[in-house]
Amino acid sequence: MSEELLSEKLPHGTARIAHIGIAVRSLDEALRLYHDTLGLPLHGRETVESDRVTVAFLPVGDTQVELLEATDPESPVARFIEQRGEGVHHVAFEVDDVEETLKVLRGRGYRLIDEIPRTGAGGARIAFVHPRSASGVLIELCEKGTDHHG
Ligand code: ZN
Repeated sequence: MSEELLSEKLPHGTARIAHIGIAVRSLDEALRLYHDTLGLPLHGRETVESDRVTVAFLPVGDTQVELLEATDPESPVARFIEQRGEGVHHVAFEVDDVEETLKVLRGRGYRLIDEIPRTGAGGARIAFVHPRSASGVLIELCEKGTDHHG
């Protein structure tokens, strides 16, 4: 891929953080803070079978907080909490086209968790970039306009 093509393809509309994912042991307990106490509205709660998590979305300005509770002790979120405790799990950037962004990242040697886009919470078209390729941050790419929670 030429440099010209790369620069033509970038940036991919990453002007917005789609959401910030926070791993919690208990959604109900976390909602007592974020919803009941801080007053963030609750925009849906759903179980994402493929990731073995139940998530809750709470809008804040033009972004959202995504709370994630594992439904299986062997799931990635459960293992994350086991190793690092509760806390910020991933940052989701909105992009115009997840597939195109993956192509560019792959072309530049970044390590991907998802080689092709898949369906995440709210029906969003998403893909994850490996934290080892991203300064220790698990990055989610979230395609603009595909997230029903957005
Ligand atoms: Zn997410």
